[in-house]
Amino acid sequence: SITFPLDPEVVDEFSKLVENIVVVEEKGPIIEDQIKTILTDLVQDGKIKKEPSVWGKIFPKDADGFPEESGLTPSMVIERLGGLILEIGDPCAKYDEKKIHSELDLLTEIKAYGVLVPPRSPGFCAGCPHRETLSTVHSMRDQPEHKDIFAHGDIGCYSMSFLPPFGEMHNLTAMSLGGAAGSGMDPFVTNKQYALMGDSTFFWRGMTAISNSIKEGQDILYIILENKNTAMTGHQPTPESGHNIMGDKTTAQDIESIVRAMGQDQIYVRKMPPSNREKYMKELDKAFSMPGTKVVIADKECGITFHKRKRAERNKIIDKQGYIPRETFINISQEVCENCRECTKNTGCPGLTIIDTDYGEKIGIDQSTCVSDTYCTKIMACPSFEKVIVTRSKPPIPRVKKISLDNIPAPTRHEFSDTWSAFISGVGGMGVGVLSSTLARAGTKEGYTVKFNDKKGLAIRNGAVSAHINYAKGSAKISTIVPNGKADLLLGLDMLEAERSLVYASRARTTAVVNSSVIPTIPMLAGMMNYPADVEDNIRKHTNSDEYLSGRIGEISELFYGNKLFTNIILLGMAFQRGLIPVSEKNLLEAIMETVSPSQRARNAEAFELGRKFAAEPEYLEFKNIVADNKILRLFGAKESYIELLARKSDTIAHSYWMWWKGEHTAEEYRTMVEYTVAKMNLDEETNRNLARRVYDMIMWGGLDYARKYVDRVLEVFAVDQPEKNYAATKAAILNLAKVSLIKDEIYTPLLLTDDEKLERDKVRYNIDEENGDRITYEHINRPEFEVFGRQLRFNLPQWLAHNWLMNIFKHAKFTRGILTRWGWHKKELGFRDWYSDQVIGFFLQTAPTNYELALRALRVINDPYRPNEFAVTGFREVIYPKMDKARKDFEQLIGSSPPLPEIPVLVS
Ligand code: SF4
Ligand code: SF4
Repeated sequence: SITFPLDPEVVDEFSKLVENIVVVEEKGPIIEDQIKTILTDLVQDGKIKKEPSVWGKIFPKDADGFPEESGLTPSMVIERLGGLILEIGDPCAKYDEKKIHSELDLLTEIKAYGVLVPPRSPGFCAGCPHRETLSTVHSMRDQPEHKDIFAHGDIGCYSMSFLPPFGEMHNLTAMSLGGAAGSGMDPFVTNKQYALMGDSTFFWRGMTAISNSIKEGQDILYIILENKNTAMTGHQPTPESGHNIMGDKTTAQDIESIVRAMGQDQIYVRKMPPSNREKYMKELDKAFSMPGTKVVIADKECGITFHKRKRAERNKIIDKQGYIPRETFINISQEVCENCRECTKNTGCPGLTIIDTDYGEKIGIDQSTCVSDTYCTKIMACPSFEKVIVTRSKPPIPRVKKISLDNIPAPTRHEFSDTWSAFISGVGGMGVGVLSSTLARAGTKEGYTVKFNDKKGLAIRNGAVSAHINYAKGSAKISTIVPNGKADLLLGLDMLEAERSLVYASRARTTAVVNSSVIPTIPMLAGMMNYPADVEDNIRKHTNSDEYLSGRIGEISELFYGNKLFTNIILLGMAFQRGLIPVSEKNLLEAIMETVSPSQRARNAEAFELGRKFAAEPEYLEFKNIVADNKILRLFGAKESYIELLARKSDTIAHSYWMWWKGEHTAEEYRTMVEYTVAKMNLDEETNRNLARRVYDMIMWGGLDYARKYVDRVLEVFAVDQPEKNYAATKAAILNLAKVSLIKDEIYTPLLLTDDEKLERDKVRYNIDEENGDRITYEHINRPEFEVFGRQLRFNLPQWLAHNWLMNIFKHAKFTRGILTRWGWHKKELGFRDWYSDQVIGFFLQTAPTNYELALRALRVINDPYRPNEFAVTGFREVIYPKMDKARKDFEQLIGSSPPLPEIPVLVS
């Protein structure tokens, strides 16, 4: 490295020794240009005869040199410098040509991986109050008068507003300049405008923007997001906090009073919490409709500080008595969920997740991330949401077997000669920073030179985060960045992020230890893209596959500790036990203890040993070997066989008290109907299971006759189906006809919400053992709708009514369906069912013998074109109606009575 500006005498001396000068410089050619100028002067002054060639931004033959944009990495320098040395072949330079070739070959190999990884942009935390503002404004755009509102913003957590799913920031300027952008635009546009402003930004310079808007008579709404923190940079106090950075009391400055003073009571100012979505929407609507400058202060504490306090209180109670006596969770009934993604699109909350069910993908709650602030329930897009209230009088029974952590054999340590590198990748909040600090501390204790680098900033809010750790022995040189392909260990806290980090890995050098639990990105949650199927294969392919180690550690951590927070330390234990971390057990354990908070030391020490156990005896990575009760396995995706399902569902029907004396008979009929159909079709296990499950559902919806009609129609499809097409149409008919027939009306939905299978699953999920004194109760979040004499009656079910006892009454009111239907109740859904059964399946039956592909495409007109087992026509009421209309239109186009529907475009990967 050299100083700036350069000393011409140094350049003079240096230029006499060499023929080529290479300037390795980030950004613009500052040093390079100075050297060139000095050299030219030296030639002119006759001090040197010939100036050496200078290579920096441009290499010989006009090739690209070191880039001017972004920064440099060790690999980039190796690649450019290595190529340059070979190209110019300077005889004065001593270099190892073989070594350069091997380094360049490695970089070429890495470039050829060609792995495309979906982006993981950061997003608002679970419980973040900003979500409540953005979701509300975003939904208001559905109204024509709010469609074209301009949104300005600047720097803070709320900068993430421009990202999916909201896209609510049309320009992002420097801190506090959102309002200024609005001011500049105001004279030229007639659109309504709003500017988002954080509370710290308000005090930084934001208040001058508001003052200017008032002065200019600008038509703009300022939404001040008052979360009582400088949240993005680490929760420093704001002038409103009433204390200084040392924690001493100071005068609290009140934003509302300041704004009112600026406006001299002549501008509209309103302060309110954003949590009551309906009220808040009305308030914003009112503010937008007024002319001039308006200020709405969204007053709610940062979710991180609020829930950290709550967690600490919770941990205190657990430490004292071993359990929480009463706790409320938010749950989504997977039976009722339609996978319409309205909740994910309108909240982007990472507390929501995608789950795999017998009915395809559904949305569920990630119990480790959700903070039960109920915001997703306020979207009111469906009746799937419910509050689950768990009460206990004793500590819950552990869900895992007792595993002995004694006598784990000492690992065989993989030694290294000069340098050792690890790359850690994960998602914000998973503890990547804890691991990098631990490894840095442990390496220092071991006597190595340690350099490390953490990716921080907005990414820590659910985005992709990573850390580089490098150890060196003696005089070996290391950077803070792991050179491409040179990681000895790839520690993947998240599988997708491990795949994204493959540039640091190579087959020859890297061993990957990975948490294979799936963590979807926000665009995936919102249904904008899918989780790729080949992630784990790619990681294996580009690392040392013989030593690759993975497991669903997130879920395992949840089973042992009730949340996923210990995933990082379990993985560390696994890597250590495989000898992949070149430090002693003592140093590593000490480093963990120094890094984690004192109250969590014991649990982290145990999690580390647990990880070691998993690596020493990998059979423990299988859920079946650790769960205390096999029922738990179904929560983790274990499927029961067709025979088991048939027996269980028959038993449910036989013992349904509300079937009265008909239970046994109905169960017998059910079994016969399914067995007859299965025997006749003789298809695969999965199809048999799908059929058995749906025939049960049909009986529950409309009785035996309804189920018989369904089975008969499926058999008609089967009769013209083709074995060489793998009976694709029959399989589609089983799923699709059930989907359109099982209308989730105000009778069937309560039945689903109180179905035995669901209740049993919830008991397992919330670890309820009635013999242990545990209880579970429900409060459903439901907005039933009835159509009486052509008039729609829709109302929010009051809390005191929204319990299982009322659901049990509703589900027995099947007799009302006939009357209500005559009055027009759910006529769109019923019409759609009949249309699908009569016209679509009718078309298939007619067309399949001559044009099977067209007939099958028609049958799948309600499915996702790229994933035929998933539905495109999903949701409730206003959400599903346009999709039904589209399906009908697509069908008309397909069968040729209107312009032809184009081919399904091929997706480019
Ligand atoms: S039905 Fe739609 S809104 Fe309701 S939980 Fe499922 S995906 Fe979310
Ligand atoms: S209740 Fe819903 S919005 Fe709130 S944290 Fe949980 S999943 Fe997210």
